[in-house]
Amino acid sequence: MQYDVIVIGSGPGGYVAAIRSAQLGLKTACIEKYATYGGTCLNVGCIPSKALLDSSEHYYNASHAFKTHGINLDNLSLDMAQMMKRKTEVVAKNTAGISFLFKKNKIDGYQGIGSFKDKNTISIKKPDGTTEEISGKNIIVATGSKPSGLPFIKIDKKRIITSTEALTLQEVPKHLVLIGGGVIGLELGSVYARLGAKVSVIEFMDSIIPTMDRGLGKELQKVLQKQGMEFYLGHKVTGATSNGKEVTVTFDAPNGDKKELTGDYCLVAVGRVAYTDGLGLDKIGLSVEERGRKITVNDHLETSVKGVYAIGDVVKGAMLAHKAEDEGTFVAEVIAGQKPHINYNLIPGVVYTWPEVAAVGQTEEQLKAANIKYKTGSFPFRASGRAVASGDLDGFVKVLADAATDEILGVHIIGPRAADMIAEAVVAMEFRASAEDISRMSHAHPTYTEAFREACLAATDNRPIHI
Ligand code: FAD
Ligand code: NAD
Repeated sequence: MQYDVIVIGSGPGGYVAAIRSAQLGLKTACIEKYATYGGTCLNVGCIPSKALLDSSEHYYNASHAFKTHGINLDNLSLDMAQMMKRKTEVVAKNTAGISFLFKKNKIDGYQGIGSFKDKNTISIKKPDGTTEEISGKNIIVATGSKPSGLPFIKIDKKRIITSTEALTLQEVPKHLVLIGGGVIGLELGSVYARLGAKVSVIEFMDSIIPTMDRGLGKELQKVLQKQGMEFYLGHKVTGATSNGKEVTVTFDAPNGDKKELTGDYCLVAVGRVAYTDGLGLDKIGLSVEERGRKITVNDHLETSVKGVYAIGDVVKGAMLAHKAEDEGTFVAEVIAGQKPHINYNLIPGVVYTWPEVAAVGQTEEQLKAANIKYKTGSFPFRASGRAVASGDLDGFVKVLADAATDEILGVHIIGPRAADMIAEAVVAMEFRASAEDISRMSHAHPTYTEAFREACLAATDNRPIHI
């Protein structure tokens, strides 16, 4: 065998699997279809979206918040080309970082489309049309996902677009109609709303971010409405057509009324599907699940073919970069004969709107459904000294703790820097802390994290100090 491990796909699942395999002394190759490493996350996902979220937040604050801080700006203007250029540079720095790490760890990188010839042989179709075969004892499929659409809407990638095109628009839409009030819709909708677009969100469920704790969706909707976004909840999209300049989206209200909205762009953000095109799974007797097109794996993330593993968006579970990374490490360690573990209950979920939304563990809805008795403690950011100082008064921290033992079962935050704050909750829950444990630990003052401590005090025996 040429390699101990061949990884197909270089997203956060694939590149981490390759690096961890190499660290463990396994001779490793990684095949990537595109010219740059990093997959969806680095090229058309997490990183470019966060670069644009940061840029648009600066612009929004300069036009809306600076005045209250005593900073007056005359003739504020937006240089969209520069904003996009910076985003491209941020992506380039990150993808180059992976090339560096591959070299450092002596991983052989191949550019091309990898497909199974048999369970140990991968054929690589290169950009120049030639093919090369490499063989490995273990194969890790990390081919990720792509945007899913709606069968009755043709995505022309110009006016009716996916997240990929939304990350490269050369102008601020006048009116962006969003299909789907999930993570992508609200993050990219926020970018353009902050830059001055009218943004309308049509969501099938009766709440935005419907898979998160209900309280978070309600609060986020309130705040985004203040920022100018409008919402059509419980509405069912029936079509979208473009005349090349405008898009008309038709949809049904909960009472059956027919409605339509016309905008200059329509972003379809209704989820993603696993990507396995061209992999030749049939050559090794594997097929994909009908729903979501995912590859089936066991608890070791191994497929029904021994020595062939799959990780990240292409298998069950949350489609998140850090989940893919954890699985990359996990599989490399399994191959090396170790006994790693992933606590899937403690993979945090974050929405990078402002305020940010972050959660870990069980929602109230899940605890009720499982008939688990729990206590709730909440603390609003308007009562936090740090939040008053920065002017970030929206949102709250909600802690759910076991009614009998006080163990923290879920933490749900909407507020400033929630994405970073959730790490404390993950650590606490991994060590099975009680709400009282957290409430007795020192938290630096003034920080947003004090709100977590106060919510724990509220959950323990309803004795927050500052409210
Ligand atoms: P991917 O990152 O999709 O990588 C798969 C790679 O495999 C791709 O590079 C692809 O070209 C390659 N490939 C596919 N088939 C082949 C083949 N046959 N041969 C060779 N190469 C192949 N997640 C977060 O946790 N936080 C965020 O903030 C976040 N923001 C996001 C924003 C957007 C707009 C989007 C679209 C996604 C976001 N995600 C975020 C989700 C995150 O990007 C994915 O969960 C993550 O990238 C999945 O990693 P992966 O390694 O499984 O697959
Ligand atoms: P999503 O599942 O988060 O949201 C899709 C939304 O579209 C849901 O609320 C759903 O109810 C709604 N929907 C589905 N069909 C509809 C219809 N016909 N009409 C109206 N609404 C409809 O999916 P997404 O926002 O496309 O994101 C895809 C994946 O990418 C997610 O799994 C997410 O984990 C990942 N992602 C993560 C981050 C992050 O971690 N910050 C950011 C972006 C994307």
